[in-house]
Amino acid sequence: MIELRLIVDPLPITEPMVLRLQDEQAQSEHDAILIHKEDGRREYDYNGFSLVVHAPETIDLQGDVLLFLPGRKTAHRLIRANSPHNTFLLTEQCDQLCVMCSQPPKKNHNDFFDQFALAATLAPAGAYIGLSGGEPLLHKGRLFEFLSVVASSRPDLRFHILTNGQHFSTDDESFLTNIGSERILWGIPLYAPERELHDLIVGKSGAFERLQQSLAFLARSGAAIELRTVVMKQNWAALPALSDYLATRLPFIRNWALMQLESIGYGRMNWDKCFQDTSVDFDTLATALNRSIARGIDVSLFNFPLCSVPENYRHLAPSTISDWKRKYLPQCSDCGLRATCGGFFEWYSHEKGFMRVGTS
Ligand code: SF4
Repeated sequence: MIELRLIVDPLPITEPMVLRLQDEQAQSEHDAILIHKEDGRREYDYNGFSLVVHAPETIDLQGDVLLFLPGRKTAHRLIRANSPHNTFLLTEQCDQLCVMCSQPPKKNHNDFFDQFALAATLAPAGAYIGLSGGEPLLHKGRLFEFLSVVASSRPDLRFHILTNGQHFSTDDESFLTNIGSERILWGIPLYAPERELHDLIVGKSGAFERLQQSLAFLARSGAAIELRTVVMKQNWAALPALSDYLATRLPFIRNWALMQLESIGYGRMNWDKCFQDTSVDFDTLATALNRSIARGIDVSLFNFPLCSVPENYRHLAPSTISDWKRKYLPQCSDCGLRATCGGFFEWYSHEKGFMRVGTS
């Protein structure tokens, strides 16, 4: 697995600090320059101070942006310059309690929005950065401030923001208009076409109704929406009806992503009662996909190993599992589909997983 934290010698700092690592030349006042590299130890110069990062020779750190915390012996790799999979975890707080949540909520919140803003401004040209939680819009003021600051200095950056859609209001219209619809894709989950089931899955009464208000508001504001549905035993039978619902009630969405379950957090705890093995039964999902395609809804399958999907639907299944949490099974080693297959989550357990994979 790719490390998102690096071992460092603690810095004599009292506030969090963001720096970009450069092999040769500084391009900004936030750049540290490599001056010595030996046996997994890299020493950088930052304005006359020594900064030491311990990392195997095989890891390319050129252009990476790190967050250093006072007294800590690890630094967070906020931006990996060579990766398209950079995500800022904005908060671990959330007001829903989804049955398959991969990042179960925590009570406390540490505000690193200023550090995230600086890190974004140091990202490579044209970077597409994920913003996730928890629920980022629980800190809507800070989030919008972050986005406005970054947009003014780095108009080339775009963001994918995961939100439960519970916190938009008409007051947000001017922000959305100013920031522009092409800069942000809002990833919003909807699990069922009716309130009882959706509210049950997200663990919050009234969530479905509130979400419909937000979706209608976002549509009026011209915002780009990626609707997300994790495929589970709970909503399996409802997928065709959900497809109908999108076509008739939410035709303005940019795309509909149907997602396989991630075996971590509550997803791991509740795996047996949630995991729907689409490698042995794809029919209901196929019906939902067919109906959506027929009505002009753009559909995708996220986190599906290609060999778990019937051949005529594989073009809908891009490689979506982030590089740092992706793995392949031994049977993948000589598979002809591997170059385009997203494989499995690092924490996937094959004993409890897909019964029919490994034969492409
Ligand atoms: S065998 Fe492995 S690489 Fe090939 S399609 Fe299946 S999961 Fe992907």
